[in-house]
Amino acid sequence: MMAAGTAGNRGRKVLILERNRVLGRKLLLTGKGRCNLTNYTDIDNHVANLFPQGRFLYSALFSFSPEDLINWLEDRGVPTKIERGGRVFPASNDSHDVRNCLLNYLKENRVELRPLSRVLEIENLEPTCGFQIKTNQGEISAERVILATGGCSYPQTGSSGDGWGWARQLGHRIVEPEPGLVPLITREKDLEPARGLLLKNVELTVQDRNNRRVFSEQGELEIGEDGLAGPLALRASLFIQRGREYSLLIDLKPAVDRKKLDRRLQREIEELGHENLIKLWEKLLPRMLIGPLVKRTGLDPELPVQQLTREQRGVMVKNIKNFGLTVIGKKDWSEAIITMGGVDCREIDPATMESKIVPGLFFAGEIIDLHGFTGGYNLQAAFSTGFLAGSNC
Ligand SMILES: Cc1cc2nc3c(=O)[nH]c(=O)nc-3n(C[C@H](O)[C@H](O)[C@H](O)COP(=O)(O)OP(=O)(O)OC[C@H]3O[C@@H](n4cnc5c(N)ncnc54)[C@H](O)[C@@H]3O)c2cc1C
Repeated sequence: MMAAGTAGNRGRKVLILERNRVLGRKLLLTGKGRCNLTNYTDIDNHVANLFPQGRFLYSALFSFSPEDLINWLEDRGVPTKIERGGRVFPASNDSHDVRNCLLNYLKENRVELRPLSRVLEIENLEPTCGFQIKTNQGEISAERVILATGGCSYPQTGSSGDGWGWARQLGHRIVEPEPGLVPLITREKDLEPARGLLLKNVELTVQDRNNRRVFSEQGELEIGEDGLAGPLALRASLFIQRGREYSLLIDLKPAVDRKKLDRRLQREIEELGHENLIKLWEKLLPRMLIGPLVKRTGLDPELPVQQLTREQRGVMVKNIKNFGLTVIGKKDWSEAIITMGGVDCREIDPATMESKIVPGLFFAGEIIDLHGFTGGYNLQAAFSTGFLAGSNC
C-alpha cells in the first residue's frame, strides 16, 4: 500500500492486485490489534535489529525514516504514542487507523484496487517490454511490477509465499524460508505442568551442536505448549534453524552467581529451622516450577532442610542456574510472527529496491530476506522499502 500510494503520488498509473476481499489483513493483526508500527530509535539501531543484513536497509530507512513515518501518519490525522522500549503505536490503540490511513493515501493518489484477484504467474516480456500477469480474473500487462506479497507466516491473512515462486522463475535466488518469532519445541516435556507460567528476569542461552553460543539474553520467558514461548523464546527463534538441534539453558536467577545463590540457600535454611525442602523451593521459585525442579534434582521434598548437604545444595544451585533443555524444532507458520528468508538482498539494488536481474521488477516488505525483532522493526522495514520501491518504479 505504501509502495502503490507513493508511485501514484508521482503520477504513475497504479493497480493493486490483492487476493483478499480487503487490504492489510495482517496489518490489522499487528501489535495484538494495536499496530506497533515502528520503533522510536535511530536508524543504526533499526539496522542492528534487522537480520541477516540490516545494512541493506540504510538507503530505505534514510529515505523514509521512523520519524518520517510518524510525521506521515500525524499529518494524515493519526496521532501516535511511544511506549516501553521505543515501541510506537497509533494513539487510538487501533490498527484500523493505520490501515485506513493507507487506504486514504491510495484513494488520494488514484490507485486502482482489484480485490479478490489472486496473481498466479508473472512473465517477463523480453526485452524491456514489461510484464504479463496472470490472475484468477484474467491477464494484465504492466511496464513495472512491485512484488509485495509478504512472507508465509499466518497464511490465513493471505501471505502464503506466492511471490517467491514468481521471483524464482524470473531468475532470483530465494533464501529458504523459516518461521521466525515463533515458540520453540523442546524434547524434554517436564515443564509441562508449568505451562502458561511467565518467568520474569530470567536468562536464556542457546548453543548449537558445536557448543557455539548463538543467543543469550535476559528477559521474559513463558512456559508454552510443547516448549517455550514468550519474548525471549521468540527472539531466540531467529537464531535457530529447523532440522537442527540446539541446547538451551535457562538461568532462573541471573542476578546472582552460583556462590551468592548458595549463600542465599544457607540463609534461607537457617531461617526455615525444622521445615522441609519443599518450603525452601517455595522461597526460591514460582510454585508451578517446583514440581519440575524436584524431579530434576531427585531430592526428596520431605527432606528436613537442616539435613541438606553441601552437594545437595550444589545440585539445587546447578538446576536453578542451568536448567537445560533441547530444542528440537519450532512451532509452524500459523504461529510465526515473521518469515526468515526470502528474496536474496544481494540481488536487489538497496537504493531503489529494483531487481538487479530483471529491470522493472521491484520488491518491498517481507518478501525480501530481511526480518527483525519485535518492537516495530518489521513494519518499518516494510514501510521504508515500500516507499523506496514506489519512489523509483
Ligand atoms: C500476528 C502478527 C503480529 C505482528 N505484529 C507486528 C508488529 O506489531 N510490528 C511489526 O513491526 N511487525 C509485526 N508483524 C509483522 C508484520 O505484520 C509484517 O512484517 C508486515 O505485515 C509485512 O508487510 P508486507 O506488506 O510485506 O506483507 P503482508 O502484510 O503479508 O501483505 C502481503 C499481501 O499480499 C497479498 N498476496 C499474497 N499473495 C498474493 C497473490 N498471489 N495475489 C494477490 N495478493 C497476494 C496478501 O493477501 C497480503 O495482503 C506481525 C505479524 C503477525 C503475523
